[in-house]
This record gives sequence, C-alpha cells and structure tokens, in this order.
Amino acid sequence: MQGGCVLLLLGLWLQLSLGLVPVEEEDPAFWNRQAAQALDVAKKLQPIQTAAKNVILFLGDGECTRLVHPLSSHNPGALGCQLTQAGPRDSDLTQGVPSGMGVSTVTAARILKGQMAGKPGPETPLAMDQFPYLALSKTYNVDRNVPDSAGTTTAYLCGVKTRMKVIGVSAAARYNQCNTTYGNEVTSVMNRAKKAGKSVGVVTTTRVQHASPAGAYAHTVNRNWYSDAQMPAQAKREGCQDIATQLVYNMDIDVILGGGRKYMFPEGTPDPEYPQYGRQNGVRKDKRNLVQEWQAKHQEGCHGPPTPIPSLQFTTRPISTGLFEPGDMVYDIFRDHTTDPSLEEMTEAALLVLSRNPRGFFLFVEGGRIDHGHHESIAYRALTEAVMFDNAIAKASQLTSEADTLTLVTADHSHVFTFGGYPLRGTSIFGLADGKAEDGGSYTSLLYGNGPGFRLYWGSRPDVDETESMDPNYKQQAAVPLGSETHGGEDVAVFARGPWAYLMHGVQEQTFVAHVMAFAACVEPYTTDCNPKPPSGPSDAAHQAACLSSLALLVGVLLQLLVPALH
Ligand SMILES: [Zn+2]
Repeated sequence: MQGGCVLLLLGLWLQLSLGLVPVEEEDPAFWNRQAAQALDVAKKLQPIQTAAKNVILFLGDGECTRLVHPLSSHNPGALGCQLTQAGPRDSDLTQGVPSGMGVSTVTAARILKGQMAGKPGPETPLAMDQFPYLALSKTYNVDRNVPDSAGTTTAYLCGVKTRMKVIGVSAAARYNQCNTTYGNEVTSVMNRAKKAGKSVGVVTTTRVQHASPAGAYAHTVNRNWYSDAQMPAQAKREGCQDIATQLVYNMDIDVILGGGRKYMFPEGTPDPEYPQYGRQNGVRKDKRNLVQEWQAKHQEGCHGPPTPIPSLQFTTRPISTGLFEPGDMVYDIFRDHTTDPSLEEMTEAALLVLSRNPRGFFLFVEGGRIDHGHHESIAYRALTEAVMFDNAIAKASQLTSEADTLTLVTADHSHVFTFGGYPLRGTSIFGLADGKAEDGGSYTSLLYGNGPGFRLYWGSRPDVDETESMDPNYKQQAAVPLGSETHGGEDVAVFARGPWAYLMHGVQEQTFVAHVMAFAACVEPYTTDCNPKPPSGPSDAAHQAACLSSLALLVGVLLQLLVPALH
C-alpha cells in the first residue's frame, strides 16, 4: 500500500461523504434484519471440542524504536535451508518499554480498512471481528500496573506472569541479575508443541530477537540482551546467553521470518544490503557467526543448493528462515513491494511450510510495528500496520480450517491512544473532531494521552486543519510531553476461532491465553486429559488446495527475495 494513494483515497472520500448516513440505515428494518441475522449465527454456534491440530497466535505488538526515515533500497532476504544476511534500512533502538494493539486501535483500524475499501468505515468488519469468541485479557506485569512486552510475552506464551523486562523466567528472577535466571525458567507453549512433534514457527515485523518472539524460545533476565554486545561482563561470566544465541540453540524452530541480522554476525561485518552504513554492521563481540552455526546445525535437513524452492518442495523436514533487515523490518507503507515481504506474505510462507507436518504446527505471528507507530504518536503508521496485521489474519483464516486450527488474536498491552470528539460519519479516521475546543482551535479525533505529539506555540495548543492531520507524518497531539508515547494499562481483547475457542470468555489473566493453547493442542501440562483428534479429510484437502493456489505467488516473492542475496 502506498501512503500517498491511501491519503488520496481518504481525501476523496472525505469530500464525497462528509456526514454521510447511508439511506438504508434510516429504516428500522435494516437494523432489525441485520441483528436477526447475527442472532441466527450466534444461535448456531457449536463449540468445537476436538483437539487443535494446529495453533496460531497473532499478536499486535512491538519494541520501542525511533524511526530513521527509510531509504528506498532493495531488500534481499533468505529462505529455505539458508539463513542469509540481507536487509534494507533500520530503526534505531531506544531503551524502554514496548507496546501493542488496544481496542481503540482495533476500532480505528476497522474504520481505516473500511474507508480504504470506499465505505464509511465503522460498519465494515475486520477479519478478526469475524472470530466467534472473545475475552478480555488483564495485561499487568507482577510489578507494574502498565506492562512491557517482556513480562507479557512470558504470560501469554509461557502461562506465567512475571516482572517487567524479563522473558521466559518467573517473577522469582531479578532484572539484569544473570544468576537469578537459573531454576526460574518457564517454558513456552511453542517449545512444548515442538516436543509433542509439531512444527513451530515465528514470524514478526520486528527483529526476531525482540521481546515478544523471544518469549517463544528464550529465557533472559534482560530483554535487551539481543547479542553478547549488549550483555555486561558479569552476566557472560555467569553463563547467561544472549537472545540471538538462544534463538539458534534453545530449540529447533522450523520457520523464522523477520528482522535482526546484526545480532547474528561478528562485530564489524558489513550488512549485505547496507554495506555503506556502519550502524548496520554485525555487532557480536564474541566473533561468532550464528548464521553459519545455524546452517551447520540444520545441514541434515537441507537438500541441494541453498535456494528456497527445492527445500520447500522436496525436503523431508521443511524449514524456512529469513532475516530481512539488520534490525526491525520497515513500516509497511515504506516497504519495497518488489523485494520486501509483507506480514501477510510471511504468514502465508510460514503456513505453507508448517502445514506439511501431519502432526500439526504452532505459529506465532507478530504485527510488531503497530506499537512503534503509537510510540511515535503517528497514528497513520500504527493504523496502517494494524490493517496489514488484519490482512495477515484474513490470509491465515483462508488457508486453515476452523475444524482443526485454533487461532487467537490478541495484544500484549494497549496504548494511551484515544478516538473521540464526535466526528461525522464518513469523516476520515485521520480527520477532525466535530466542533472547536475551548481554546478556539480544531482538534483531531485521534489523540494520545502522552508522547512526542505534545506541542505549545506561544503558550497555547497549536490549531490543526485537515491538510495537516491527513499528512502520513502527522503526530497527533498529546496531553503530556514525552519522547516516546507509553503503553496503556487497560485490558486487551482476545479474539478466538477454532477448537476450544469458546473457552475464551469473560475477563481473564493474560496467562489464560497460553493455557488455552496448551489445553486445546494437548501439549504439556495437558497431555493426560487429551481431547479427541480432529476430523481429518475435508479440512486438510481444502487447506492443501488453498496452499497450492498460493504457491505461484510465494515462489515469485521468494525468488525476488533471494536474487539479491545470491549475488
Ligand atoms: Zn511499545
């Protein structure tokens, strides 16, 4: 999606439909008929109580970064049996907390997606809206009312709440104290699914060593220990390992797609895509090349040359790995469509590989840059990422069967992002609220409680017009000045579809997410009261047909990604 095109579309829609009320909505019969249809669907809902062969967890989240404006460069990647260096521009990491997709983000993204389709917006359902079951998840860390991504990933992936900034360890561990790791490790559902014979994968738009995906495979008392370069000497002496090393050695992950090359290569190794930018060089102080180590570790699974297509088609043990950026992947609106995979494309590629295992799979998919847009107080970036996240959910729903695949969509936490001001129906989601504020100025419907959008001109809040608010780089105003907008503390939604999805109900601790996944899939600790196997046949056949239909597209994308890397 090109930002300019979207802006134009939204602008046109704004002109055409300001204050629009669809005429059919004036008739009570419209609403009665619609509600009757929804009631009919609800009455026919049948809980699925057979085991989930497959589990997919979609997470709207991310790590705190400061955006460096992207360059328009190519982006080689790596797939198949080879973990190759590749990647375009990157973001600067800033220390601090990460964040996610709260309910206000879901609502605003729904309106944006509807408006991109030429509709007024709020009436048009997202893919995640069509999941039949819903719960609220309490996101707090044991030591913070408002959480970070490290403590929360431990909750929803390992099933145990813990402290802020630590991953895969219980609250008995202490931040930054390496020796408190040992004996306090907690294990993810993904790890347990692997032990049960399922294939497993991690897909993210952030670096794969980032807190949220790291919860699937790592144990660390400091979420920022991406490589040994970020670790203190004492932690190394005490035997703690950086997250990138754990990615390769803690467990065997069949699909790894995202960013994060720089943490895999020795310090000073030029990035193949940005050799001119020293900031993108490898950073490892121990001189290890984890890509080579990964390749050696997986040699037995690779057949033929290091090209993706043979491995996808012919290996008995399919694996697919690609790191497309030195750090996080770029915002979708800045993506080079000819060389950079979208989250939807990566999800599709992952499903193609993972679904070959007759014992099923566990897939974690993170739309990690929704969070980054919010931290920057640029709602355009957050919401366009949320729409792309929903597109990936739609693709996965299309490629899997509700009969044998439990799919959950949630966030690790919310943001201080609000949507208000009585805007007229049909107004662009990036438009103005109805009426003036008490200071005489206009204000946008989207605002932040705190963040870099805070501004004062001559002691007053600056006015804003539609030209300004519709700019893709516009920072929505904030009440409190902060360099980075913060996470929000309210509950987040969990959307659920598939076997045992109906267990997602009411208000739950975030740990419930992990336990429902483990129970539904009959993995530890729920192996003894295991559920009946799912029906076989039609769903698998439909799945394979869907995958085959998408193969041509995937081959095209993967080849494009590989070509630069092979030179
Ligand atoms: Zn964040």
